[in-house]
This record gives sequence, structure tokens and C-alpha cells, in this order.
Amino acid sequence: MAPSSSVEPRAGELIQIERIGQYVPSRVCLACEVCCRFPEADSFLRPYFTGDEIRAAVGRGLSPSAFGDHAGCQIEVQPHPAGEGYVCPAFDAATHHCRIYEVRPLDCRLYPLAVMWDQAHREILLGWDMKCPFLFDSQALLPEQAAFREHVAETARYLEQEAVLAMFERHPSLVTRFQEDVVVLQSLPALTARLSVSRRDLPIKPLELADRRRFETAARATRLPPEVLPSAWLFANHYLWRELLNYCWAEVDGSLCLFAESPDGIFMPAPPLGAGSGPNRTLIATLFSWMNRRNGHSAVTRIESVPASWKAELEAWGYRVVSKEPEYLYRASDLVDLQGDAYKSQRASYNQFCRAHQQATMAPYQSTDAPDCMALCQEWQDCKSRQAQDESARYCLEDSRRFHMRLLADAEPLGLTGHVVWIDGRIRAYTFGGALAKEVWCVLAEITDRSMPGLAEYVFRESVRAALAQGYRFINTMDAFGLPSLARSKQAYHPIHLVQTSIVQEP
Ligand code: SF4
Repeated sequence: MAPSSSVEPRAGELIQIERIGQYVPSRVCLACEVCCRFPEADSFLRPYFTGDEIRAAVGRGLSPSAFGDHAGCQIEVQPHPAGEGYVCPAFDAATHHCRIYEVRPLDCRLYPLAVMWDQAHREILLGWDMKCPFLFDSQALLPEQAAFREHVAETARYLEQEAVLAMFERHPSLVTRFQEDVVVLQSLPALTARLSVSRRDLPIKPLELADRRRFETAARATRLPPEVLPSAWLFANHYLWRELLNYCWAEVDGSLCLFAESPDGIFMPAPPLGAGSGPNRTLIATLFSWMNRRNGHSAVTRIESVPASWKAELEAWGYRVVSKEPEYLYRASDLVDLQGDAYKSQRASYNQFCRAHQQATMAPYQSTDAPDCMALCQEWQDCKSRQAQDESARYCLEDSRRFHMRLLADAEPLGLTGHVVWIDGRIRAYTFGGALAKEVWCVLAEITDRSMPGLAEYVFRESVRAALAQGYRFINTMDAFGLPSLARSKQAYHPIHLVQTSIVQEP
């Protein structure tokens, strides 16, 4: 393709993206092995599509399932049909053509130009991605060529038009994080000013069920080893409390930031998700500054469930980092086998239950089980309520009742799996959990008839057996909710790891 036109637009004339054109000649692109291919399924280099671009791509035949969030997201790539790594689903590996070339997204149209934050996350830059070998292959140094300089200037003019700035504001993920192998060509001051979070309010939206895929994608992109993932990485673990706390979220500089508003103020129940394995200093400072503006420096301002691996850096930046109660992680096979003296008492309780209730069966939860499960939950609540020492304990039980009502109603769209235990035609136990990672299952709730000895051991072992059969090798049972008796019972199952997280506050 011919290089872009160097004709100046008339004053006030909108520069269209088509006018900028493709700088690298097509014959070079077709012989190259870089674009549209990715080493990992969750590569941050996957192109970002806005909602309009998704609609256009789907209109050209791309499957809607290639997009986790139809309001705007990075495309889901697929294994390379004839090689290593992954390819964009729009890429034809046989011909090296893009099947949606005429409607390809801005991200692809700009490439190998890249729009990225600088290393300190203060300025947005336009650069050339050195992964495109054309910079080396061309005869003369590109930055010295007048046509190239004009192409870059024209692209910058395009990017800093009001309509495009507004689009970036709606889709801040169009700006990638800093990449060392991108040669900086010029800064983009108007775009920097527009996206600088210190100068604008956050684009807060209420948390909806439809945000689950977006949350899960961001959680996956926060690269932590599976065995240290806390239960805060599970969407349901927040969504199910939304009648108690007012949850909302914002996408800030490529990270999904979840907030929960209590009567005392707003806080973050999870750290920013989606921007790699470590904390981003500028982003953390921005989030505290925003919460402080909302809360007036209240003690409620905090970030919870921050991974232990972030602690040293956050402390070095002056934050107060206080450890939370740990979560318990088990090897699923240990909980199914219950072998040796270490599990003697759990094995005895399980066997006692099986002998006493030979007709007991565990079955997958169905929505028609909800009324029976809720009745069992009410029995459990009544029993607990009689034991409750004070008013606040009774409030907690009411919160828990609402949690279970929503859980039973929304389990399927939340991606949770439930099981119920039938005894003599009645449901006497139920349990729910969800996938924290490919191999980690999180047990989210378990209710049993407390008058039946061994039933808790039975339902736990059988539900873990079901999770193991589906490939989940590790089981997270969350923390002990500050209850020493529950902590003792969780310890008695011999966790292989205590998942440590912290609460972060300003000094
Ligand atoms: S949309 Fe087209 S140009 Fe963009 S990555 Fe996919 S195949 Fe390549």
C-alpha cells in the first residue's frame, strides 16, 4: 500500500483514519511472521476493539464469542492452526490476510505505531514497535525520511482530534502500558491531559452481572501463581454482597478497579486487576487520591486482598500494609483420600454418616432446588440466631441470608456450581463453589443440617471429589471469618498453603 497522503487537512476538517493508510507496504506484511500472532493466549498485545469495532467485525463474520465484553475488550485469540502460539481469529494463517481488513480496529490500523504510557505512567507517547522488522529492513533509517515523519505527524493529529480523544476516554485500554521495544517518536499531550486520572473523575459504573467476563479477564491478566490467588479474584465473591455494599467499578489505565461503598465511605475490596503481576505506583496513588476526595480522608479508605508479593514494594512507597486473616489452600486429592492418622477424625465422621444414611445422595444443584435450599438456610439461621450473643451478630445473619438468596437465584449466570444432599426426600445440605483459576476451586458456601453428625464432612469430601474430577487440583476454602473454632476445623484438614493477603492504607 502507498504511504499516507501528506496533504494538510483544511482547518476544522476531521481527519479520517482511512486517510492515514498503512505505512508498511503490503508485500512486506504478507511475508512477515509477526503481526496478528501472539505467544500467549492472554498476551497484552492482542488488539483492543471498541464496541463499534466489535459490531463491525461481527458483521463481517467474526464470532461474537471472540469478544468477552461487547462494550469493548481485547480479542480472544485461538491456538495457531499450524504452528506455535496463538493467532487472532480474524487472521487467515494460510494466506496471511486479515479477514476483516476493511473494518479492522484502530489498534491494528495504527500498527506498527503504538500508543503507550511512558515508564512513569505520566505521559502518553506515540512510538514505533520494534517487533515490526520493517524499521530494520527498510533501506534508509525511517525517522530520517520526510514521508515517515509526515505519517507520524498526521497520525498524531488524527489521535488528538476531539472525537478521537473522547473515544480514548471511553476506551482507555487503547493505550498500552510502557514497552521497552517501542521507539518513542513523539508525545501526545492532549491525549495525556484527557486520560490523566489525577485531573479527572473516574468513569465509575455500577457492578452488574454482565461485568463478570470483564472482571474474570482482568483477574486472569493479573499474573499470580494459582496457589496464591485469593478468593477476591472470584467475581461472585463480590457480586453476591451487592445488597449489603454498593459495588461499582472503573477501568483506569488498563486496570479494572473495583469499589465497594458502605455507609462509612468507599474502599476497594480487591486491588486493581489486569495490569501484570505487581503494583503500579502511579495508579495506586491515583486511587487513594480519588477515594480520599470521596471519603474525606476517612479510615475506611483502603485497598483489600492485596497479594503478599506486593507487600515489600508498597511498604517501600510508604503505605501501611496490614496482614489479613489467611485463606486456606488444600491439595484436592488429600481431601478426597482422607488417608492416614492426619485425617482420622474426618474419616470417622464421614463413615459414621454413610453408615447412618446409606440412602443419602449428592446431586448437582438445579434452580428448582432453591426453595428447599432456602428453607434449610432459614433453619440454619434460626439455630444460629438463638446462639447469637448480640444485635450485631443478628445483623450478620441477616446479611448472610441475603447472600444465600442471591446465590441460589444467580448461581448459573455467576458461573458457580452447586451440589445438594438428599436424605429421605429432603435437601439436608448444599454447597457452592467456583473456579479461581484453571486448577483452583474456591468453596464459596456450605450449609448443612447441624443435627446430622458427619454430614459436613460428607458434603465437603464429595464436593471436592466432584471438583477434582473436573481437573481442579487445589481447593481454596477462604478464611475463617475471624472464628477460632472455624480456623481450627480448617487447620485440621491440613492446608498445604496459607494464602496471605493484606489491607493497604495510606500512612
Ligand atoms: S483484526 Fe486483522 S489485522 Fe488485527 S490482529 Fe486480527 S487479523 Fe490482524
